[in-house]
Amino acid sequence: MEILISESDIAAKVAELAETIRKDYGLADLVLVGILKGSIFFLSDLAKHLGVNVTMDFIQTSSYAGEKSSSGVVQIRKDLDSSIEGKHVLLVEDIIDTGLTLNHLRELLETRKPASLKVVSLLSKPGARKHETQIDYLGFEIPEKFVVGYGLDYAERYRNLPFIAVLTDEA
Ligand code: 5GP
Repeated sequence: MEILISESDIAAKVAELAETIRKDYGLADLVLVGILKGSIFFLSDLAKHLGVNVTMDFIQTSSYAGEKSSSGVVQIRKDLDSSIEGKHVLLVEDIIDTGLTLNHLRELLETRKPASLKVVSLLSKPGARKHETQIDYLGFEIPEKFVVGYGLDYAERYRNLPFIAVLTDEA
């Protein structure tokens, strides 16, 4: 396993992103919408740096493996618990790869008439993009390699690693 982004680099970036987000939203109420399960650590660390006007909700899409390339359809496995109508929503993603999931979720959530809808993602693989996407706040751009850790899994393993690593064949 090759460490791509260290625990301390992640922590510094999360603090920096939170600072920008705090300035942009000021005292407005903000709903953080985490995409399960990959965004759990990013969302919780980010939330700790934001002010008191933050609430959290979660949404889960269907497993992307296989289905994505064949059907191009993203299904909702777990929907939000509460209405986002009239609220400022920040969608919290772990990684943007082809852009399919993000575009689908953005379209879906827009139909629910939030006051605003923005996206923060810890990682992005610009080289893998198939769908044009807008990421309002981004942590790191990474090469087109399969990464694990800090929420990201391989067959449900490695999510609890405190750093981001490239999974090698040997691992
Ligand atoms: P997209 O719809 O942008 O192609 O894919 C986004 C989702 O694919 C992410 O939320 C994540 O679940 C998964 N994914 C994409 N690249 C990686 C990767 O390098 N590692 C892991 N663990 N998941 C990835």
